[in-house]
Amino acid sequence: MNVTDEAMSFADLALRPELLRALGDLGYEEPTPIQREAIPPLLEGRDLLGQAATGTGKTAAFALPVLQRMSEREQESGPVALILVPTRELAVQVSEAMHRYGKDIGARVLPIYGGQPIGRQLRALERGVDVVVATPGRALDHIGRGTLALGGLRMVVLDEADEMLDMGFAEDIEAILQDTPEDRQTVLFSATMPPRIDGIARRHLSDPVRIKIEHERPTTGESPLVRQSAYIVTRSHKPAALGRVLDVESPTAAIVFCRTRDEVDSLTETLNGRGYRAEALHGGMGQEQRDRVMGRLRTGTADLLVATDVAARGLDIEQLTHVINYDVPSAPESYVHRIGRVGRAGREGVAITLAEPREHRMLKTIERVTRSRIEIEKVPTIADLLARRLELTRAALHESLLEDDDLDRFRVVVETLTDEFDVMEVALAAVKLAHESTGAAADEEEIPEIALSPTRGRRDGGGRDAGPRDDRRGRGPSRGGMARLFVGAGRSARIRPQDLVGAIAGETRVSGRDIGAIEIADRFSLVEIPESAVQEVIDALRRTTIKGRKVTIRRDRDAH
Ligand code: AMP
Repeated sequence: MNVTDEAMSFADLALRPELLRALGDLGYEEPTPIQREAIPPLLEGRDLLGQAATGTGKTAAFALPVLQRMSEREQESGPVALILVPTRELAVQVSEAMHRYGKDIGARVLPIYGGQPIGRQLRALERGVDVVVATPGRALDHIGRGTLALGGLRMVVLDEADEMLDMGFAEDIEAILQDTPEDRQTVLFSATMPPRIDGIARRHLSDPVRIKIEHERPTTGESPLVRQSAYIVTRSHKPAALGRVLDVESPTAAIVFCRTRDEVDSLTETLNGRGYRAEALHGGMGQEQRDRVMGRLRTGTADLLVATDVAARGLDIEQLTHVINYDVPSAPESYVHRIGRVGRAGREGVAITLAEPREHRMLKTIERVTRSRIEIEKVPTIADLLARRLELTRAALHESLLEDDDLDRFRVVVETLTDEFDVMEVALAAVKLAHESTGAAADEEEIPEIALSPTRGRRDGGGRDAGPRDDRRGRGPSRGGMARLFVGAGRSARIRPQDLVGAIAGETRVSGRDIGAIEIADRFSLVEIPESAVQEVIDALRRTTIKGRKVTIRRDRDAH
């Protein structure tokens, strides 16, 4: 395997074997830059002031040292660490991460936040905990009641400190810190460093190590010719969004980067299940296995390589056209390394990043550091996809018309059919068969579009409860103020998206631009229209015909 000089493994970080094992089990192959820089001084007991956004791996950067210090203490005297976070979501996420990393150490981690019945928290605190992850308000509440003892604290972590200040927790934080032992170790992470954060750091951190993950501009050499874009999607829609993007882009060969081995394995499986030819490549594989995978890519037996950074290091794949980041990379440097694999030798390459709403800020950081523009694009809709697939079928037919000299042997088929049907109809049926034989099945659900307003972008960068709540979206109205109509005719009635748009825009005040996703199934179609226009559209379409026939129109109520 090719390993660059700067590569450093978790084993170099002097972490306990139990922690290393947990990281291995989670499929983490190497520390992220913030982890490389933060873990050693934290293990030495230094205070730390870190500027890092979500997506950099900052949670593990403080969680691992906390767990290590916890396991070193001799006797129990209340919690050993207090981690303050701005939101309940983050309290739960950080606790879960600590559970995962600390499973072999037996860490007892308790999230406490407002909104949860206090009785449960009291009982858990009574039984004894090692690490408390709390929102400042609820922490102060427990301190006031005497149920959260801070006397035994060795570490305090302020996570997403700028968010906590924005949410008005400044005084609570000051009050909590006053109550903690003088000789505690203090860690402060913040995505931005406004003067107020500096003030807190000056008052409460002693001689801190300062870390900022976006230092100098990475040396990119001559800048490659790469079209860079990103799609904002929630975690649960990522596999579908990736499929959609792959279908529209149709890469000759692509490499899809994941963070962990587990993610590589499960994404490879998902992609193969969806009919792509994907191969996994990660650091846990032997040389022989790797060679086999690379062979399949070179010969075109596979066209997608799903890999971790470590595994893909040093790979040079001639025919690569696309680099896809299934997650936002943990540092701008890593982004640059990844996309440097395409756009070589004057050929244009494409770099695509799937980002969760909360990773939006990291994307901005990458843009700033690399001084390049990453265009945020809309995930292709089902209508886009259908159009693209039809275009591919058209292109294949065009090629066949230009190049095939043995088309004549099919003449008899056409001629016998034209006794009964006209040539246009025969051609349509033939195109349909050709199209369907490409496996171009109707896609699943529409992927909700996520708008990032300026304020939301700001909040999403840090606080995790600001993201859109469309994960649980059912089949009801799917966009802000949009409703879905069921139209009782589909592909088998030769309905195309433009027929629906035409009928709606022609008969009502709704313009084509206002119409959302259109999904055409075999026997029905679904169209998104503004909620406010539902009745008008239903009335108008019931009065008119689509493709010469009357069709059922109703509001879609998830019945298929
Ligand atoms: P964070 O910035 O702490 O929110 O972490 C972002 C994501 O990266 C989380 O899903 C972590 O599980 C994952 N992660 C953190 N460190 C590593 C690592 N060294 N290797 C792979 N994934 C990681």
